[in-house]
Amino acid sequence: MKQIHVAKHAVEAHLVRGFLESQGIRAVVRGEMLTSGWGELPADVCSVWIADDAQFDQASKLLVAFLKGTLARELGARSWQCPGCNEVLEGQFTACWNCGARRPANT
Ligand SMILES: [Zn+2]
Repeated sequence: MKQIHVAKHAVEAHLVRGFLESQGIRAVVRGEMLTSGWGELPADVCSVWIADDAQFDQASKLLVAFLKGTLARELGARSWQCPGCNEVLEGQFTACWNCGARRPANT
């Protein structure tokens, strides 16, 4: 049993566990009892463990890619600059209100 991820809260821990299990890797969440139902408590006690040590390296690689994807989506919600007129727009807009250009897919 190896720890692979320390989550900020139980939701994140379960997200990670669910992802790993969808990849065929058995994982468990620990520390959940300390945080569930007490949303405002410091929740750095919630962690994800790989049940089978032999799967740890594979799990680690998958998780890095998974978290990068999550991060990319978070960044995607931030402001972006219009390629047409250089207007800076809030993350929730998918097109420029100034010139109508579509938001580039890579921002
Ligand atoms: Zn524009």
